[in-house]
Amino acid sequence: MRIGIDLGGTKIEGIAIAPGGREIVRRRIPAPRGDYQQTLAAVAGLVREIEYEIGERATVGVGIPGTLSPATGLVKNANSTWLIGQPLGEDLPRLLERPIRFANDANCFALSEATDGAAAGAATVFGVIVGTGCGGGIVIGGRVLVGANAIAGEWGHNPLPGAHDAESPGPPCYCGRRGCIEQFLSGPALARDYHDSGGASITAKEIAALAAAGDPLAEAAMARYDDRFARALASVINVLDPDIVVLGGGMSNLDRLYTRVPQMWTPYVFSDRVATRLVRARHGDSSGVRGAAWLWEAAHGGGSGLGAGG
Ligand SMILES: [Zn+2]
Repeated sequence: MRIGIDLGGTKIEGIAIAPGGREIVRRRIPAPRGDYQQTLAAVAGLVREIEYEIGERATVGVGIPGTLSPATGLVKNANSTWLIGQPLGEDLPRLLERPIRFANDANCFALSEATDGAAAGAATVFGVIVGTGCGGGIVIGGRVLVGANAIAGEWGHNPLPGAHDAESPGPPCYCGRRGCIEQFLSGPALARDYHDSGGASITAKEIAALAAAGDPLAEAAMARYDDRFARALASVINVLDPDIVVLGGGMSNLDRLYTRVPQMWTPYVFSDRVATRLVRARHGDSSGVRGAAWLWEAAHGGGSGLGAGG
């Protein structure tokens, strides 16, 4: 059995899955916000509770916001800021008395979809989570690509490629720069763009519904969004050349993306034709916690830069 833990900012989710991927147990508890020691205790308690339920000791993989720094071993880049700078990679294995694999939550998403989701069987997978933010992860040959800085796949804070006058320098981002991809592709970014073009303050979902009903202002905002998505993914395709791009997160529910973006990305890709497919995640919100469990699949671990990240 494999236990996967998704350590989120507001909730901590745990599952146990059987070797074939069947989910045996699922538990969800509120995250002790702001308190690292209580977070440790909560994760350890959740693992013990699941093991009691399944009646055996299991491997444990943990998906975290941010990543463990290869340089220091401490958590970095986490939006759950109380985890930043903490030795999670030492403390949790000691508490649970076993080795534990850690990975960024977007990497877990990509691994889940590459293992038995929408990208199963693909050699090179780019997994994208676009919702309130914009993250990404890379899986090659069934393994998470971690990278020298443990940020492989983090495309959301690159500048929007091909930004024209109206997009430059672009909105400020919490990372300190301007015009990041996240500031154009997240749900709040679409809502802001629509509002700035004269529309009401409504959600991305409502804008998409208006566009589908023929509203010209909403359709214009959606058309800008499609084109920005295409440019942003084209630059990834030029570098990684993935077989498949899997979308998760709230914005992955916009059906039009799967037809329009691949129609629009070709002029930006350095190739006569583009074989890369754009698909929606199969496991939806469960991909993070499933991918954490799959960190202990036999294919993972070892290799320079390839591995589970912890
Ligand atoms: Zn940024």
